[in-house]
Amino acid sequence: MKEIVPSPPPLVHNQFESVRELFSQNVVPSYGRFDLVFSHGAGSYLFDVAGKRYLDLGAGIAVCCLGHAHPAITEALVEQSRKLIHVSNLYFTEPQGRLAAELVKRIGAGKCFFANSGAEANEGLFKLARKFGHDEGRFEILTATNSFHGRTLAGIAATGQDKVKKGFEPATPGFRHIPFNDLAAARNAISPATVAILMEGVQGEGGVMPATPEYLLGLRALCDEKKLLLFMDGVQCGHYRTGRFQSFQRILENVPGGEKFLPDGVSMAKSLGGGFPIGAFWVRAPYADLLGPGTHASTFGGTPLACAVALKVLEVIERERLDEQARKLGEWFKRELERLAATYPQVVKRARGLGFILGLELVEKEKIRAFTASDKTAALQFVNRLHEAGVLTIPAGTQIVRLLPPLNLKPQEAGEGISKIEEVIKSVA
Ligand SMILES: *Cc1c(COP(=O)(O)O)cnc(C)c1O
Repeated sequence: MKEIVPSPPPLVHNQFESVRELFSQNVVPSYGRFDLVFSHGAGSYLFDVAGKRYLDLGAGIAVCCLGHAHPAITEALVEQSRKLIHVSNLYFTEPQGRLAAELVKRIGAGKCFFANSGAEANEGLFKLARKFGHDEGRFEILTATNSFHGRTLAGIAATGQDKVKKGFEPATPGFRHIPFNDLAAARNAISPATVAILMEGVQGEGGVMPATPEYLLGLRALCDEKKLLLFMDGVQCGHYRTGRFQSFQRILENVPGGEKFLPDGVSMAKSLGGGFPIGAFWVRAPYADLLGPGTHASTFGGTPLACAVALKVLEVIERERLDEQARKLGEWFKRELERLAATYPQVVKRARGLGFILGLELVEKEKIRAFTASDKTAALQFVNRLHEAGVLTIPAGTQIVRLLPPLNLKPQEAGEGISKIEEVIKSVA
């Protein structure tokens, strides 16, 4: 029986302004935020404080893999929080052990460490690499140009983009960048101090650039030859977004030798908790006990609450075959984006990506007359026009519009997304 609840108070017309004011007075302005204030969500849709509905093809930057307000997540949060939220890592709890087992089952023989974010998961891998190379004086980690690995001091040192480093020098030592998908460059860059290589399977912030199968297999062989650890940053492209649990599994599907590929470490976060904060790294069996008691820790890492939610997210993805959904609908989505690129070459250069990590590359801003008057990048102006049309996407770099929808996006929602994207393209063509 439904309870009779009073109808909500009428919307204050300046709620948008008052929230903005709270931010400008009290929140550190480190983000370039869009002029949108959201109040609630349901499935693939978000609602702003004025009641306008948006189709969310960004999913909180690849986080809300089951969309918004998913009943299974709510249930897991409520059930577990009634029992136990936190005890610290001084003790054992069952959900952490079970979640570790589920991740090991999906990646390979090894163990997991739990943290709270992608940056923190990567920090754990950096420490693992330093411990591994310590007695030989090796410490240096190679990462790719245009990569993204988080905003901590080591994270920005690892990230291959100058814009995240500027103003925060001196950089944490021990990181160097190599061009992505260039195996010869990786080989040439290795010094006597090199101990590990860290790569994204699909560069996310760098504009949706997948690694090639040859590159991944080549890096594995190179790391074996030079006794380096090979780490994959699966924070954005992982968790079934490409149709497989980790993007390297998808990239190496049906590639000779691909089924044997295993990195030495994998970092995870974003979709892992479907919106509840949790990060983790997996480390391959031979190195799984390198970080012994007292060497690494996180107060909040792997709470029963976070792990119960992450277990539920995995259960729903598996039960509803959302991996297949992301793969199939992602293929359809990409073909549609390719059609738009072919139909409107004056606006769209190409589409790229795998499954539900997709990028629409726009032509140079100077070539889109509707965009030349503003000093904002083409990607930003395009994303803003999509907001007006009621669709959320995420810019990457100056020319790429990223699509990272929830894995349970419905076919008709994908159709709505494409038709609104086409509308915006037409309006600027
Ligand atoms: C988002 C992201 C990170 C950082 O994760 P945070 O949770 O923001 O610390 C690291 N690596 C990749 C590939 C990411 O996309």
